[in-house]
Amino acid sequence: MQCNFSEKSLISLLKKHFGYKSFRPGQLQVIESVLSGNDTLAVMPTGGGKSLCCQLPALVLKGITIVVSPLIALMQDQVSQLEEAGIEALFLNSSLTLDQYSLNTSLIRGGKVKIVYCAPETLVTERMQQLLANVQVSLLTIDEAHCISEWGHDFRPEYRMIASVRAQHPEAVCLAMTATATQTVRNDIKRSLKLGSKTFGFGFNEFVSTFNRPNIFLEVKSKAGSVQNAAALLKKPTNFRLTRADELLLEFLQAHKNESGIIYCFSRKQVDELTEFLQEQNYKALAYHAGLSDTERAENQRLFVQDEVPIIVATLAFGMGINKPNVRFVVHYDMPKSLEQYYQEIGRAGRDGENAHALLLYSYGDTNKIRFFMQDKTGTELAAAENQLEAMTAFAQSRTCRRSLLLAHFGEPPAESNPEFCCDICSSGLNAAELETDVTIPAQKLLSAILRTGEKFGASYVIDVLLGSRQKRILDYGHNKLSVFGIGTEFSKQDWYQLVNLLIDAGFLRKSSDYQVLSLTRDAKDTLRDRGEVRLPFVPHTNAPAQTQKSGKAGSYKRILDSSDIKGMAILEALKEMRRKLAKEAEVPPYVIFGDRTLEDIAIKKPVVFSQLTDIYGIGEIKAERYGDFIISIVREHQT
Ligand code: ADP
Repeated sequence: MQCNFSEKSLISLLKKHFGYKSFRPGQLQVIESVLSGNDTLAVMPTGGGKSLCCQLPALVLKGITIVVSPLIALMQDQVSQLEEAGIEALFLNSSLTLDQYSLNTSLIRGGKVKIVYCAPETLVTERMQQLLANVQVSLLTIDEAHCISEWGHDFRPEYRMIASVRAQHPEAVCLAMTATATQTVRNDIKRSLKLGSKTFGFGFNEFVSTFNRPNIFLEVKSKAGSVQNAAALLKKPTNFRLTRADELLLEFLQAHKNESGIIYCFSRKQVDELTEFLQEQNYKALAYHAGLSDTERAENQRLFVQDEVPIIVATLAFGMGINKPNVRFVVHYDMPKSLEQYYQEIGRAGRDGENAHALLLYSYGDTNKIRFFMQDKTGTELAAAENQLEAMTAFAQSRTCRRSLLLAHFGEPPAESNPEFCCDICSSGLNAAELETDVTIPAQKLLSAILRTGEKFGASYVIDVLLGSRQKRILDYGHNKLSVFGIGTEFSKQDWYQLVNLLIDAGFLRKSSDYQVLSLTRDAKDTLRDRGEVRLPFVPHTNAPAQTQKSGKAGSYKRILDSSDIKGMAILEALKEMRRKLAKEAEVPPYVIFGDRTLEDIAIKKPVVFSQLTDIYGIGEIKAERYGDFIISIVREHQT
């Protein structure tokens, strides 16, 4: 079937209601498909702009659009945003009081709304069915559609019942949307919802957008080894025992001042400790994990979403149901257990399309921690967890483009990306071979020391032997008489640790899980015997303080407003203040009123008459009318 709406008319609706000049990849195709009366399955990454794919058609369809979503916490947000865009919307879920519920149902009955958000368990109730029996439903949208599949990672049984609701509204075309779906899950969604089946007589289109999020810079740093120069990064003295991870984090936060971000940790305890440390160091940071009370969690989330507190330190419990578009960074203080989890978590950054930074702090110890929690798994479940961990570890250790690796994991070819803003490897300008150095000699020394001491000791002891330490234990064993004693003084203890970790990662060394005893693998023995060359990304700090990778300047979020534009900067501050006030009055998060990019665009273009307003990113007719006077008066005030 043909779409009755031209691309031009759809773009003018986009501009009018949402203030955007162009569609994001895939949006137009999905919208045209729906408006041509085809059932549609859209797979788009987080932040890809799925919401718009049902909201724009809803504006022109005759009947109402129902959006089924499991994320109750997001519904209020979506509805507020739509109201701001001048689109009548409401939601029905268990969080409403009886009065609110009745009011909303009467609005639906009276034909006063275009979009109804609804939890799946609400949709399938008898009461809801009676209500909908007398209403024309034009579009049934299933958000997070992977929840319908038992093969998905988030199966929800109530999703299965949506199919019966669909049967009662054969006139409604169906749009299923998700950010993650393998072919099996996609088939499952299609079958369960009878997309494109004869039963309903609609056609069917499937759109799978790329998983690439080109605006997220990917970086991995090794947190193995000891602290180097933490004192210079501290804002005040501390009693916390700092690790290399803390040091790297402080460095990162200093380079990302005034930006909002999430720091993910492995455990609740770590979240609490890190939050306390950051607060002590005058960072505005709050904790979020399942051990906090509901009220505390909700309050911390609110403060983060409202831009009152820029940093949240969290376990993986944090993120589902967060719609904050201006998250500028995601730091993994510990490695996630799978690339799927990593992808989902970094995906919370840069939803507004502006540049964002994902930093993963990795050490081999993370792998052991994750393995420890896999102990109760058996059979295929264990094998799957092992595979996931392996893929994640390979990503962390990779010396080739991380974006390509991530995309390959999701079955996509490498993306054409800007090497300046892709990942640490690409922006270093070095190829994989250049990032590695010849460590044959030190590796031979280390491996021999392990062999000569009988493969009975941990790294610390072996390194002490290499450094020629005269501690009692070494003398007692007579290891001061070995040929390897004292032959490793060219590197510090920390550098030797780095080499140990690299050799473990490269499969030359094994570490026993109980006493951390090091032993050689067959590969190591072969290499020693054949005197083969060993090349690894070893960066000794002893004689080369500079990092191999050029510092990640390219990965920083670039403001579109030039900071030398003094007037513009003052306007931006005033606009932020105005946004805070308006958001408080309307009891919505600031981004519902305007995104950061919109405020910056105003500060750059400095509109002084009404007609200039709609040229601003994110301002359509409705918002221009609503907020135009405020904006113009602020700009004029600063022009004199
Ligand atoms: P998803 O649901 O796919 O994770 P959203 O629908 O929440 O993503 O969209 C993410 C952000 O992108 C929102 O802030 C939204 O306003 C913005 N957005 C959506 N479409 C466009 C567009 N065509 N141009 C600019 N920004 C857009």
